[in-house]
Amino acid sequence: MAIFSAYSNNEILDFLKKNAPHAEIHLDDEVAAKHAANGNAQTEIDGHILAYIAVADVKDIRGVVKTATKFHLPIVPQGADTSTVIGADGINDALILSTARMDHIKEISKEDSVAVVEPGVINQTLDTAAREQGMFYAPDPASKPMSSIGGNVSTNAGGMSGVKYGATKDSVLGLKVMLESGEEISLGGRTFKQAFGYDLTQLFVGSEGTLGIVTEITVKLFPQPLGKKITGIAFSRIWRLWHAVLPTCAILV
Ligand SMILES: Cc1cc2nc3c(=O)[nH]c(=O)nc-3n(C[C@H](O)[C@H](O)[C@H](O)COP(=O)(O)OP(=O)(O)OC[C@H]3O[C@@H](n4cnc5c(N)ncnc54)[C@H](O)[C@@H]3O)c2cc1C
Repeated sequence: MAIFSAYSNNEILDFLKKNAPHAEIHLDDEVAAKHAANGNAQTEIDGHILAYIAVADVKDIRGVVKTATKFHLPIVPQGADTSTVIGADGINDALILSTARMDHIKEISKEDSVAVVEPGVINQTLDTAAREQGMFYAPDPASKPMSSIGGNVSTNAGGMSGVKYGATKDSVLGLKVMLESGEEISLGGRTFKQAFGYDLTQLFVGSEGTLGIVTEITVKLFPQPLGKKITGIAFSRIWRLWHAVLPTCAILV
């Protein structure tokens, strides 16, 4: 644990516990070490964090933000911690704010073809829930079974279905975000067509937690295709494949 000249660590911890009452706080233990640096990247990071804090709700998030502001500490937001580019690793003296426990699907609306989720919901969990209602959630990074929607938003994650449905940014309609001031703001909405001036929703997509903490996400769902046919086609040259893919996409197959 780091030593601070102006405040003792106990002072910081007391303030944190009071302001983030439902959070699980880990200091010098195995959990904190595991989440300080996930080891997925080629570059290593020291990760001498001050604390790993798994928040339960928005009140806890505000409490962590307040603590960081008062004691001049950096916050590193974290979802399922699958980042491969040290994006979720802790820099020295940081508070890692994990939204992994905020994993409730708040709403799935068939009428509006949208879902509203907390940031810790796992991509696969949302997709499975949507499929039970005849829809699906399109963005499919290879980490789909283990990465969170909050992390997917913050990295603009994408996978194979991106060719047809785009990356995460193409499925995000609205966000709630906690700013450094402790204010929670709503961006975007739940309609495909929105005219709110500057598109601040998309500014947050892919921002890797540098602009605020994503606290709620509204995403687009698609109706499940009526049928599925898989055909194997062999191409003698890669450019022939390329010439076949473009017109196939154009007819929305
Ligand atoms: C096996 C494997 C396969 C992968 N395949 C793909 C792939 O196909 N496509 C792809 O795009 N990526 C892929 N990734 C990378 C990674 O899974 C994605 O970047 C994923 O979106 C990260 O989600 P996460 O919940 O794990 O977020 P984390 O790793 O915890 O965090 C990622 C970033 O988002 C920020 N963040 C997390 N939650 C919040 C929040 N609530 N508010 C603000 N910021 C937040 C963090 O600070 C960090 O910058 C893969 C990773 C692995 C390990």
